[in-house]
Amino acid sequence: MINQLHHFIGGERVAGTSGNFGDVTNPATGEVERQVPLASADEVRQAIQIAAKAQPAWAAVTPQNRARVMFKFKALIEEHMTELAELASREHGKTLSDAVGSVTRGLEVVEFACGIAQMLKGEYSENVGTGVDSYATRAPLGVVAGITPFNFPAMVPMWMFPMAIACGNAFILKPSEKVPSCALRLAELLEEAGAHPGVLNVVNGDKVAVGTLLTDPSVQAISFVGSTPIAEYVYQTGTAHGKRVQALGGAKNHMIIMPDADMDLATDALMGAAYGSAGERCMAVSVAVTVGDKVADALVERLKPRVESLKIGPYNDPDADMGPLINTAHRDKVKGYIDSGVEEGAELVVDGRGFSLQGYENGAFIGGSIFDRVTPDMKIYQEEIFGPVLSIVRAESYEDALGLVNDHEYGNGTAIFTRDGDAARDFTTRTKIGMVGVNVPIPVPVAYHSFGGWKRSLFGDHHMHGPEGVRFYTKLKTVTERWPSGIRQGAEFVMPVLK
Ligand code: NAD
Repeated sequence: MINQLHHFIGGERVAGTSGNFGDVTNPATGEVERQVPLASADEVRQAIQIAAKAQPAWAAVTPQNRARVMFKFKALIEEHMTELAELASREHGKTLSDAVGSVTRGLEVVEFACGIAQMLKGEYSENVGTGVDSYATRAPLGVVAGITPFNFPAMVPMWMFPMAIACGNAFILKPSEKVPSCALRLAELLEEAGAHPGVLNVVNGDKVAVGTLLTDPSVQAISFVGSTPIAEYVYQTGTAHGKRVQALGGAKNHMIIMPDADMDLATDALMGAAYGSAGERCMAVSVAVTVGDKVADALVERLKPRVESLKIGPYNDPDADMGPLINTAHRDKVKGYIDSGVEEGAELVVDGRGFSLQGYENGAFIGGSIFDRVTPDMKIYQEEIFGPVLSIVRAESYEDALGLVNDHEYGNGTAIFTRDGDAARDFTTRTKIGMVGVNVPIPVPVAYHSFGGWKRSLFGDHHMHGPEGVRFYTKLKTVTERWPSGIRQGAEFVMPVLK
């Protein structure tokens, strides 16, 4: 019998009542293992009301005590690491070791949130006028919501809710309906750690749930991570309804390889960054820009045998470098991109389309592919493929390579591989990208910095977690106070100037 999942609202598992369900498949076998309830607008509204009721008491808990809940939550995540990683892998398909890495990156945000008391301290100025003092505090917003993608079932939700909740907000999480289990388990663990019931609610659903969160007046802010068209819709709809919105979208991350680069380092970096997690990462490198033909030839020579011998298997194969894609529909979409690259004249050096794994014929597996001589007018260059397909673009000069990076519509991540400090410095200064690596292929900022792209990879003004997370989930209040012993200025009809 197929396991039926639930929502987690007001501190309890709640059965879905809409009558609508989504299938949750194991990408390696194609089998439906669970069904997830898809909430109606009414169910979402009920969850929002429960969160709104819980929020004031949670905001009144001292920051230090909210931090203590985060400390316990951290310990519980560590204790349940394998279970969480397995829930993520089984529904997403990524290898278990990769999932452990991503849960750990989420855990680091919880560790950062443990320092919330320090971050909410605010600013104080004594004697802004004679006998007058002023201080600024950061107050929580109220009820905030997060909508997350399929590719990081634990990490992306943890970019959001630990910061929001540590700041004193109540949170509604709408995880991807393709990978709901990890979020549900995290919510149970946070409650076990001491968060009040109703402070973190997981409402499963699809666009009906998202539409309700974007328009309900009780929701003050929306954090979104997913594809660019939906990110743009979420930003426009959420802001039109008066909400603060940060909406992170898709990517096409370029890695520039300069003639003086350490080619072994660059090749290793590309293998992990292009094919890890089967390319289903918003920080995956999908374009290698070589400066000069010699670099391109050397790179192809090194990459080809390694991509041909990638070990591909189900999530629990400890030898696998990568697993399947999320489902066969996405696998067919990725194959379609490879077809289009061939049609448009790119040179297919390694073709992953024919790959199949014995015993897993219904799984969403695909082999790694490399295209050489890709040009900017091609669809495989312009669009996000979100699969294990690397495009090599041959640039004649560093300036041409930089131009490619800067002209692309996406601006999530980029990297340069070089031994030349001047080139690296010029690149970090002039590139129009949110996250930049120097000899680091996936420059995902650590939890105490903030994550976010530029251009059509992010709509809104705030990046996620780190100091930006605190700014996003709080609003500033500035108090100016005078006590009767201070000087009295009498009635003033001109703009007051403190003396
Ligand atoms: P998606 O946009 O299809 O879905 C994301 C969320 O939006 C899900 O919760 C989904 O239920 C919801 N959604 C989907 N269609 C909707 C609609 N029409 N109306 C309202 N809500 C809708 O993204 P995905 O396929 O789950 O994830 C992959 C995408 O996410 C890729 O483009 C990837 O680059 C991006 N991503 C970006 C980052 C980043 O930090 N920039 C991180 C991870 C993933």
